[in-house]
Amino acid sequence: MASSRVISSSQCGLGMGSILWLYTREGIKVLTKTLVPTSKTSVKPRAPPISAPTNNDFIEKGNVLDFDPSAPPSFTIGEIRAAIPKHCWVKSPWRSLGYVGRDVAVVILLGVVASWFNNWVLWPFYWVFQGTMFWALFVLGHDCGHGSFSDNKRLNSVVGHLLHSFILVPYHGWRISHKTHHQNHGHVENDESWHPISEKTYKSMNDSSRKLRFTAPFPLLAYPVYLLYRTPGKSGSHFSPESDLFQPSERQDVITSTLCWTIMVTLLVFSSCILGPITIFKLYAVPYWIFVMWLDLVTYLHHHGHQQKLPWYRGNEWSYLRGGLTTMDRDYGWINNIHHNIETHVIHHLFPQIPHYHLVEATKAAKPVLGKYYREPEKSWPLPFHLIKILVRSLRQDHFVSDFGDIVFYQTDPELFGPNKKLN
Ligand SMILES: [Zn+2]
Ligand SMILES: [Zn+2]
Repeated sequence: MASSRVISSSQCGLGMGSILWLYTREGIKVLTKTLVPTSKTSVKPRAPPISAPTNNDFIEKGNVLDFDPSAPPSFTIGEIRAAIPKHCWVKSPWRSLGYVGRDVAVVILLGVVASWFNNWVLWPFYWVFQGTMFWALFVLGHDCGHGSFSDNKRLNSVVGHLLHSFILVPYHGWRISHKTHHQNHGHVENDESWHPISEKTYKSMNDSSRKLRFTAPFPLLAYPVYLLYRTPGKSGSHFSPESDLFQPSERQDVITSTLCWTIMVTLLVFSSCILGPITIFKLYAVPYWIFVMWLDLVTYLHHHGHQQKLPWYRGNEWSYLRGGLTTMDRDYGWINNIHHNIETHVIHHLFPQIPHYHLVEATKAAKPVLGKYYREPEKSWPLPFHLIKILVRSLRQDHFVSDFGDIVFYQTDPELFGPNKKLN
């Protein structure tokens, strides 16, 4: 392994765009630059850091990290592929449909039970459980979008539309942008969603925009706005066939999905008129926002928040493999099973055609090849509240990347949350 390490300031940041982008106009702030190396090893700055690294940047469980995550790996993607058992690549449409049946049955059951009791003490429990089930439906629709649900395109499209339209996601619109995310993961400019903002863009944001963007829970509410407006520095909407996100050949698909989305909105309005807006608010609207929070939390933390700063690439330094190796798995405890092993993000990113029910086994088989490029996720508590700590730390530290350089790391604006404010 490389003996030198990159000393950078805080990593991560956000590409999420969305909700905070609405506030992103005006205001330029001058930032101070400091670099304080904290280890004995040599320093190889790859990006101009802005804030001093903390011990947490370089020390993990008492051990100084001696691994340069931006070093090109010594293995190939073919070697990872070869380590994964052959049966892991086999898709079973019946098994996939079985998961859909299970989840839909649970969603209906939860709705019936909650309506039956209609008790304000029980509603919050319903919201959390049902929001989590909406998120599980989203993950199955995500499989449809990748084609890991089945080899039948029509089946994937029909099931994907039913699942995603129900939770107000334009199936094709998001499927296409998510494909762009996979094909460009880890690339500063070309990645889609939760990619870092550049220093120049960051400085163009006013103070309240920055605070909103990097203060929980606001980033966890970003997804609907991302669907509508995309991310900072990028234009287009997931609902518009004319969007920069899509090729002319994809326009008809986008129109179909936007139409399905519109039908679902119409159904919700109609249901509100029949059953009353309060009923729909309790049965659907609150779980919908819980689902959105799950989605933003999970997708953000799969690309951000590791103790050691992870690289983002540009130009010739980027490759599909190097970009994919900057993603991270997370542990959600017993919820892993409910949301269909979404926690196995590294192997999913590299090989999105593997069905979700084989990802745990595929990850286990690939780990010896990945070596230190695989970052073992922190074990979940009974409920995955440990992720909140990681999220808050990342939002406090990971603000932007340099406008220059082909390997860059997140940097911190030390004045965003007050001068000399302790980040951990
Ligand atoms: Zn991802
Ligand atoms: Zn995916």
